[in-house]
Amino acid sequence: MVNTTRKAPKVPATRFKRTKIIATVGPATDNYKSITELIKAGANGLRLNFSHGTHEWHGEKIDLIRKASAAYGKPVAIIQDLQGPKIRLGDFDGMINVQTGQEFKFGFKSNYEKDNIVPLQYDLAKKVQRGERMYINDGRLRFIISTVKDSVVYAKADNDGIMLKRKGINLPDTDFKGDIFTKKDREDIVFGSTQDIDYVALSFVQSAEDIENLKRRLHALGSHAKVIAKIETQAAVDNIEEITKVSDAVMVARGDLATETLPESVPITQRKIIGLGHRYAKPTIVATQMLATMADAPEPTRAEVSDIATAVLVGADCLMLSDETASGKFPIESVKVMKRVITYTQKNAPLRAVFGEHKPDDHDMQGAISNAVIRLAESVYAAAIVVETKSGETAKQIACRRPELPLIAVTSDGRVANQLAIVYGTKSYVRPDDKFAATKLTNWLRKYDVLNKGDIIVTCSGKYPGVVGTTDTIKVRLLD
Ligand code: PGA
Ligand code: MN
Repeated sequence: MVNTTRKAPKVPATRFKRTKIIATVGPATDNYKSITELIKAGANGLRLNFSHGTHEWHGEKIDLIRKASAAYGKPVAIIQDLQGPKIRLGDFDGMINVQTGQEFKFGFKSNYEKDNIVPLQYDLAKKVQRGERMYINDGRLRFIISTVKDSVVYAKADNDGIMLKRKGINLPDTDFKGDIFTKKDREDIVFGSTQDIDYVALSFVQSAEDIENLKRRLHALGSHAKVIAKIETQAAVDNIEEITKVSDAVMVARGDLATETLPESVPITQRKIIGLGHRYAKPTIVATQMLATMADAPEPTRAEVSDIATAVLVGADCLMLSDETASGKFPIESVKVMKRVITYTQKNAPLRAVFGEHKPDDHDMQGAISNAVIRLAESVYAAAIVVETKSGETAKQIACRRPELPLIAVTSDGRVANQLAIVYGTKSYVRPDDKFAATKLTNWLRKYDVLNKGDIIVTCSGKYPGVVGTTDTIKVRLLD
């Protein structure tokens, strides 16, 4: 089990970065030094993309991340990102010219040279139906399914282009009917359950049942990992509220989402998801192409800077880097640039959630307490809110109301501290269950000048330390 003994931060509480950063580890960063630098530069979560790499490779990275996180004294959330039904073309020689109106045959593991059937790495014939769209290579090539016969899919090209081996396929109209786990995903889930990971991200989710299905699998394997729903299909957009309710966190997976829905719908979907995250106290992650040009260039574009600032202003919990840190030329710089934009934005503009109808529920017990804590802290000009939390839920309930105050969480569970690393504004610490955990932590932070003499602190704790759902006490304390 993890036990992160966090070191005292080098900046005062008022300067904590509130919007969190997730960086993807890949060939550009798969060594101890780079991982340490990513964490130091501002990464709060590290994603391992299971579309690539062997179990051995991922296992090694998990060990390196835990070592680097412990050495630097900062909890880091490790995210296992499952490939999901991201179907690809199989292997064939050269390229295939495609002309509008031309019909092609596609078959599971077929041989193009021999049978003139384009190979697929997945048995699509069992899933697709006549009239559905099939996109290849991020929507550059578009086909319409005309027939499915004898395990062969016949599809007509809707535009001109070329087909190259192993390109990805999107099926925006296909209903997987709850069967979105491939054999590879199932093996990866089993492997993940033997590893020290904090979240499992599920790709191409279509419904709340997909999430519940994954949770059941994880539970059966004894895993304590939480589940992130990657929203990248039209079905997921249609079912977004139900999916948000049952997930532990939600990712706006803008790459595939733009292909499967419409690029122009993505910014609105992004705001909607962030709003629902506020309502249901579920962390939200904005992903893909946030700093795409920095994969090759040392500077971001103006549009990228603006995109990051917008995500901060509308209240995302986390921003994610993919190729930028996995295979880009400037991985550490990318995290630094992202952090700079985040801190400037949070400092110079108060955060205002846009989708006003997605307000958190203030009438349940936890909601009411969270609201009272924030109002009290704001009234007394508190320097920070310190919350004792066993499961992390109380911290998330406060964070989803987006207090413009540092939120310090103390938990006895190292896993929870790591999971809170990607929650808005929350700095988490591991301490044993104790009636005075929040007070002791506050004193410790005071010693390191993270908090100062004369600061007022509002603490939120429970009568029974370590028992989930017993938060009932709010205290105000003047530090000396
Ligand atoms: P991916 O997911 O990088 O695993 O494809 C994110 C996205 O589609 O944006
Ligand atoms: Mn994707």
